[in-house]
Amino acid sequence: MKKWNLIKWNLIIDVDKCTNCNVCAVAVQDEHVGNQFPGYAEEMPKHGHRWIEIMRRERGTGTAMDVAYLPTLCQHCDNAPCIKKAPDAIQKRADGIVLIDPVKAKGRKDLVEACPYGAIWWNAEKQIPQHWIFDAHLLDRGWKEPRCVTVCATNAMTSVKVDDAHMARLVDEQGLQVRLADAKTKPRVYYKNLWRYETCFIAGTVSCLRDGQIECLAGAEVRLLSDGDVIETQKSDVFGDFKFDKLAGQSTHFKVIVDADGQTQMVDNINLDQSINIGEIHFA
Ligand code: SF4
Ligand code: SF4
Repeated sequence: MKKWNLIKWNLIIDVDKCTNCNVCAVAVQDEHVGNQFPGYAEEMPKHGHRWIEIMRRERGTGTAMDVAYLPTLCQHCDNAPCIKKAPDAIQKRADGIVLIDPVKAKGRKDLVEACPYGAIWWNAEKQIPQHWIFDAHLLDRGWKEPRCVTVCATNAMTSVKVDDAHMARLVDEQGLQVRLADAKTKPRVYYKNLWRYETCFIAGTVSCLRDGQIECLAGAEVRLLSDGDVIETQKSDVFGDFKFDKLAGQSTHFKVIVDADGQTQMVDNINLDQSINIGEIHFA
C-alpha cells in the first residue's frame, strides 16, 4: 500500500477556545449556498441547514455559572453508521473523508436518523440528505485546510492530515476525546476540553459571622463524597468559594462536608443531573 493512502484528515476542536462567533458556520453557507460541486455536494438550502452547528451549554447558576460552545458537524467516522445503512450511496475516501453521493442518495430521508451525531440534514426541495464534506472539493484543488479552519480567529479548529499512529499520539499528548465514544463510530473529529460541555460541577460559598458582619471564609476544608467515599478535597478561596468540576452527570448521592473554625456542616443528597450551585454554607 502506498504511504499516501495512510495519511488521513482529522479535525481537532478546542471547546475552551470557541466563542460562538459562528463564522465557521457562515463560511460553510457562503461556500455551499447557491453552489453545486458535482461529485461532492449539491447546493445547500439557504435556510434551515446548519452543516456546522454551534451548540451551547450553560452550567450552574448565579455567581457559579459558565457557558461552553460546542461546534458540531459530520465526524467523518471510520465506522460510520450512515455507510452501513447506505453503502452504495455513502463512501469513505482513502483520506478519511466521508461523502454522500447526491445522486445515489436521492430520496433516502432515512439516512438522517442513521447518524447518531445529528449531522445529516434533509434537503426537502432536492430530496437528498446532506452534511459537511470537510471541504473535500477545496482540498482536492490544493487547499491546505477546510474553510472553517481558515476563518476561525481563535484557532478553536485545527485540521491535521497524518497517519493513524500519529493521530493516536496527538490524542494521547493533548488529551483529546471523541463524542459518543460508546457508539464506537471511530470519529475523525476530536475535541479538546470536552469536559466543559459534557461534565457538571458542584459549587458553593463558605461564609462566617465576624464582629457582627457576614464575611467570606477562606481556607475552610471542603470535602466531596460520593457513595460515602471522599473523592476530592479543596480549600475555599479568598472569596469563600469552592468548585468541584469535571463530574459525570446523572450521578447521585453526592455529599459536601465543610470543616471550619472547629465546626462541621454538611449538604447531603445532592442529585447531580446538572451543574449545581449549592449556595452559601454559613458558620455562625
Ligand atoms: S469560528 Fe471558531 S470560535 Fe467561531 S464559532 Fe466557529 S469554532 Fe467557534
Ligand atoms: S457523523 Fe454521521 S454522517 Fe458523518 S460519517 Fe458519522 S454517521 Fe456518517
